[in-house]
Amino acid sequence: MEDQFGLNTTTISQFLVGGNWNETMVRQWVPPLLIPKIFSFPIHYQEQTPDEAIWKLTVDGLFSCSSAWEHIRNKGTKSIINKGIWHRHLPFKISFLVWRTLRNKLPTNEKLTSFGKEADHCFCCYRTGEDNIDHIFISGHFANKIWSFFSVAAGILHDHILINMLMLRWWRQEHKIEVQNLLNQLLPLIIIWNLWKNRCATKYGEKQSNIARNFFLILKDTTHLLNTAFPYIQWANDWTDLFRMVEKCRQETMVRIVEWEKPSQHFLQLDTDGSALSNPRKIGGGGILRDHQGKLIYAFVIPLGTGTNNQAEFQAASHGIFWCIQMAIRKFTWKSTLNWSLNGFQNNSRSPGIYSNTSQTTTPSPAIGAVQMHTHLQRGKQHG
Ligand SMILES: [Zn+2]
Repeated sequence: MEDQFGLNTTTISQFLVGGNWNETMVRQWVPPLLIPKIFSFPIHYQEQTPDEAIWKLTVDGLFSCSSAWEHIRNKGTKSIINKGIWHRHLPFKISFLVWRTLRNKLPTNEKLTSFGKEADHCFCCYRTGEDNIDHIFISGHFANKIWSFFSVAAGILHDHILINMLMLRWWRQEHKIEVQNLLNQLLPLIIIWNLWKNRCATKYGEKQSNIARNFFLILKDTTHLLNTAFPYIQWANDWTDLFRMVEKCRQETMVRIVEWEKPSQHFLQLDTDGSALSNPRKIGGGGILRDHQGKLIYAFVIPLGTGTNNQAEFQAASHGIFWCIQMAIRKFTWKSTLNWSLNGFQNNSRSPGIYSNTSQTTTPSPAIGAVQMHTHLQRGKQHG
């Protein structure tokens, strides 16, 4: 075949005569087992249409490296430990440190002795032990003090076991409240991170190993991560209060119908919303303009700098309204979650602003209905 056609340029059409297989040629070049398969394959012959290679692993038939990789890769089984370590709320540096710890890939003195360095005592305890992974993170006096405190608070047994077993013990505590599960998930990893930081600060930073400082840093990291996950709750800056808060958190699931009310014919409807990450903080907003049939005319999402929820609401609304005015759209109604009256805007009883240069009023009717599940955490009552 190489002699006749060249290895990569052979096309199917060269094996066809008048839209049918050239049997002699096929039998000449194809292994016998494949011949019946080829002859039974339906061909939609189109003269003048050149052969085209189609990559069957993608929907559009075009080759992609990712689809080829997905096809040939060997996926490992999912590990609970890896899933826990690479938690989405954890910074990479913590996940990576724990990952290295589990694989004994940290520059401890025990490790350095393999390069001919002399064995050294640990840097974390007054009664010194060996500077190895087990001592630094689990069995050392310092580590043991830290783990014991948090284990008692979380109602988890603490004894001398492997780090991965210890983490699993923490992660297997099932709670109904999401924040308690999150705390159990993150706390062991934050502890490991800070034990290592304490050891390195003592060894390289000329600091004294210090339990109080370690408790403070673990608290700081924990509240920081809780703030990322639940920014609307003011988390306590003290361990006792924090544990009490977490215990009293209750989860509320609300189900409510959300529906879009059509504008009347000849009118467009502008819906806007804006919000802050926490109040005040980074703000952003968005909006959507549709006609009376729900057809999309314009939509936008904009970052708005720093500010409060109300500023975000207002700026999102003004962006949408000015766009309509610029586009000479005069008949539109505007709705927002903003609950105030403005000059030139009238509020109806359901609190949307209505802007119109005619005397026509809207007659809202339920159009598109949807059910939205909304889950959030609330601080429990202090006396609860
Ligand atoms: Zn030690």
